Amino acid sequence: MLWRIASFLLLVAAGALLGAAAARTWGAAAGAALAALAWFVADLLRGLRVLRWLRRPDTATAPRMAGLWGEVADRARRALRAREQQTAQAEARLQEFLAAIQASPNGVMLLNPTGHIEWCNQTAASHLGIDPARDLMQQVGNLLRDPAFAAYYAGGDFTRDVVISGRGSTPLRPSRISIRLHPYGEGRKLLLSRDVTALEQAETMRRDFVANVSHEIRTPLTVLGGFVETLQTLPLEADERGRYLALMAQQAQRMQSLVNDLLTLSRLEGSPSPGVGEWVPVDSLTAQCESDARALSELLGKQHLLEFESVPELAVAGAQGELHSALSNLVTNAVRYTPAGQGIRVRWRVLDTGEAECSVHDSGPGIAPEHLPRLTERFYRIDRSRSRDTGGTGLGLAIVKHVVQRHGGELRIASTPGAGSTFTIVLPAHRVRQGLAVEAH
Ligand code: ADP
Repeated sequence: MLWRIASFLLLVAAGALLGAAAARTWGAAAGAALAALAWFVADLLRGLRVLRWLRRPDTATAPRMAGLWGEVADRARRALRAREQQTAQAEARLQEFLAAIQASPNGVMLLNPTGHIEWCNQTAASHLGIDPARDLMQQVGNLLRDPAFAAYYAGGDFTRDVVISGRGSTPLRPSRISIRLHPYGEGRKLLLSRDVTALEQAETMRRDFVANVSHEIRTPLTVLGGFVETLQTLPLEADERGRYLALMAQQAQRMQSLVNDLLTLSRLEGSPSPGVGEWVPVDSLTAQCESDARALSELLGKQHLLEFESVPELAVAGAQGELHSALSNLVTNAVRYTPAGQGIRVRWRVLDTGEAECSVHDSGPGIAPEHLPRLTERFYRIDRSRSRDTGGTGLGLAIVKHVVQRHGGELRIASTPGAGSTFTIVLPAHRVRQGLAVEAH
């Protein structure tokens, strides 16, 4: 400010001096007036330059000048830069926030008070089958036409979820999406969506499992109850009594097998996978299964042609009990389902890949291709009465699959109806050891 006054006075004084040199008093006055005018015009031009810049302020084009206007421009530029930095920080924070919501496994959608979509993340878009760019500011009711959602939206009770079918849901591949609205602000709503397909499937499986177990236990129990009642009420001959008691023992045995298989499954599900520290000799595993198979075949009076082929000095890493249970299930299935006198062959092989393979081949009735994908489901049977008559629980192949998976292996089933079936267990190379002397367990 001082410089401003001093520069004005200096210029006026210089004008007056020049004027006085030319024409004394009048000259001095005119010189001073002209100098003052020139100062004001120059000042005005400087002020206009700052004003023009302020109309479209940009820190890069800020005028650089000395004096009061320079100070004004500089302060404005600094204030502008501070505001630009704040805006950039706020924008970066907003982007981070949106990126976090995008990364959420849940769908998030913001609705304005009139129900128009203001923003939604990619997950919500794919759950609900909408385009996050094209469908912005569309009425949510126009895009989600599921009657359950329409009723939920109109009902106004947002204390619960509503479950609708997701985009591309088909009876074979259902997709279920749970939606919940949360009101916030002034009439706005936050829509959260979750994919509950797996959850619903698990719940259905659990319900089916409980129903199946109850059914499997109820049948022998009903039979047992009937026999008990008969024994209590009728005066039976000793041999008739003996026959009834034998049938009762058979039903009790059936329940026992079912409970054993259920316990095996639950143990398999609840324990960690077997490590690679324990080596099981394949020879002894095969010998155990061979004696099981021969005993069962004899018990059923089927006189099968049984053939067992092991690989000497081959050992596999895993849990002896589990591997025996898996192999024995496959072998006893072959014995149970193969007609009398037919052949059954169990064969171990080491593949070029280093994997070990155990195949159980029978010349039984075979399995139609449509059953193959479901064969390892719990309680899935092709012929219910045939399975029961031969003491099946419907859990055998589920146990085999579990054991094999826990050992990092694979269960392959190949079958030709009328010609027989081959069930093959393949164990990964890192669980296979050959050539070293293995200790028998
Ligand atoms: P189950 O106790 O009924 O034998 P599994 O889980 O062991 O239960 O087998 C499921 C179904 O697969 C059986 O009910 C049977 O229909 C079929 N199955 C299993 N093994 C054989 C086989 N070797 N030959 C023909 N069908 C088989």
